[in-house]
Amino acid sequence: MKKEILDKIEIKQGDITILNVDAIVNAANRSLLGGGGVDGAIHRAAGPKLLEECRTLGGCDTGEAKITKGYNLIASYVIHTVGPVYSGKPQDSELLSQCYINSLQLALENNLNSIAFPAISCGVYGYPIIEACKIAIDTTCSFLDSRTNSLIKVIFILFSSKDFDVYKQYLNKISKR
Ligand code: ADP
Repeated sequence: MKKEILDKIEIKQGDITILNVDAIVNAANRSLLGGGGVDGAIHRAAGPKLLEECRTLGGCDTGEAKITKGYNLIASYVIHTVGPVYSGKPQDSELLSQCYINSLQLALENNLNSIAFPAISCGVYGYPIIEACKIAIDTTCSFLDSRTNSLIKVIFILFSSKDFDVYKQYLNKISKR
C-alpha cells in the first residue's frame, strides 16, 4: 500500500465521543433514533438536539449514511451509518464496505478534512473484528487512493485493546506490501 495513503490513516484506542475531528461516524440502527453501544454514547455526549435532528431524517437503510450537526460534541458533524447485522452471508461484507464508502463520500461532499470511525457492526451486530477490520481498512485505502485532494485524516478508534491490536496488526501487514 502506498505510503501517502497509509499516512492519512491513524488508529487509536478509546472513546470516539471526545475526538477532535470534523466528523465522527455513528454505528446507528435504521431508525436513527438512538440505541445502545456507540450510538448511545454519541447521543449522550451530543445532547438532545441530535435526536431532534435525527427525527427529521426518516431513518437510514443498511449501508447508507446521513449527516447531522455534532451539537455538544467537539466534532462539528456526526455521520450516521447503519452496518449490517452479521449473518455470515456474502452480502455482509458488501454492505459493511458501503458504510465506509458512503460515510467517506459524505465527508468529501461537505469538505471535511478529518473523520473518525468506530468498529461498525462489531458490537451488538456481531461482525467478527478480524474480517470487519480488513473491510474497513481496505475500503478506506481504495477510496483515498481513487481520489486526489481528498481527506487529510481518517482515524479508526477502537474501544477495546483487543480490537486495537487487530487493527494495528493488519495495518502493519499492509504497510509491508
Ligand atoms: P453495532 O450495532 O454496529 O454492532 P455497537 O455500538 O454495538 O454497534 O458496537 C460497535 C463498536 O463500537 C464496538 O466495537 C464497540 O466496542 C464500540 N464502541 C462502543 N462505545 C464506543 C465509544 N464510546 N467509542 C468508540 N467505540 C465504541
